Amino acid sequence: MDETRTKNRILDLRNFSVDYGWGDGAVRAVDNVTMHVDRSTVVGIAGESGSGKSTLIYGFTRLLRAPGVIAGGEALFNLSDASASEGNFINLVTATESEMRRVRWSNISIVLQSALSALNPVLRVRAQFDQVLKTHRPHMSKSQRRDRTIELLALVGLNEDRLRRYPHELSGGQRQRVMIALALTLNPSLVVMDEPTTALDVVTQREIIGKLAELRSQFGFAMIFITHDLSLLVELADEIVVMYAGTVVERAPAQTLYDSPRHPYTLGLLSSFPPMHGARTELTGIPGSPPDLSDMPGGCRFHPRCPYAMERCARETPPLAQVTNESRSVACWLHAGDEDAAVPVELRRVGVERHPPLGAENAEGET
Ligand code: SF4
Repeated sequence: MDETRTKNRILDLRNFSVDYGWGDGAVRAVDNVTMHVDRSTVVGIAGESGSGKSTLIYGFTRLLRAPGVIAGGEALFNLSDASASEGNFINLVTATESEMRRVRWSNISIVLQSALSALNPVLRVRAQFDQVLKTHRPHMSKSQRRDRTIELLALVGLNEDRLRRYPHELSGGQRQRVMIALALTLNPSLVVMDEPTTALDVVTQREIIGKLAELRSQFGFAMIFITHDLSLLVELADEIVVMYAGTVVERAPAQTLYDSPRHPYTLGLLSSFPPMHGARTELTGIPGSPPDLSDMPGGCRFHPRCPYAMERCARETPPLAQVTNESRSVACWLHAGDEDAAVPVELRRVGVERHPPLGAENAEGET
């Protein structure tokens, strides 16, 4: 059997590409991305706006709107549960629309960035849960649906009195909690979070992240968490995938990536946000802007912004390759040879203090 199709693999993206537009006018927004998610793990995807991270998830969940089109690759999703002796994979790229409707919510659920626009503004909270349960669990009675909704709201720290509220009657943090509860309604094996805390203040953001960590350890679902804030991701993820201009430039265990980024872009991202704990650090950011998709630089796509660019970088595209003796892959010519001395010291740094994982806070969810 294909070794990647084991029972513990939930999602397996292979050479997955997405275009916007058709023919000569098409621009490639996601280019040959290969990555996977294992059962009960959290994979973080980081990158600036326009790096392709949201397009990637809307692509494999088939929620892309025109002119977005899947341009190639496979997205293998495991339909079997944890007790199965082997995986039962469906290719989401070629699945029919009715197959996709069954997979969404039941197997894969998505929490969007803005709960206000994701929730139906004219339906009370209870009715939003009712819609999902009536569609996917038609055998449930009205009282069973109500009990399940109360149970789900309690999981995210919201009281029963929120059932009759409209979305606009809730705070931003409460709406995002409702979205998370909705995503967990049918016990999916994969929850995709597209910048779910970006619109929230930092205190609320931290509380939501803590709640997610608690729910994940309680229910064991796998999670893809998208953000541009790498320091926040380090608190939650097992592995981090860094995207730039539609490609993966570094992939590593979260702590490894935080302690010792190897790609200059990863280092730039880490230097763009304050750490959530510990001493203050100087924020330096990344010079320049992400490239125009219709006018992509040749060679390494990051070379116009890279402080370490070499002559070769403008000519040749570095492949995503495993770093010798490390459990990570990086697409950068600095790490392609054996001459480690050539690697700048800041791209070899190690030993940054590890902070304890976030726990659940604010049980009442009054944020
Ligand atoms: Fe910088 Fe060259 Fe590495 Fe690209 S390949 S990140 S330009 S050093």
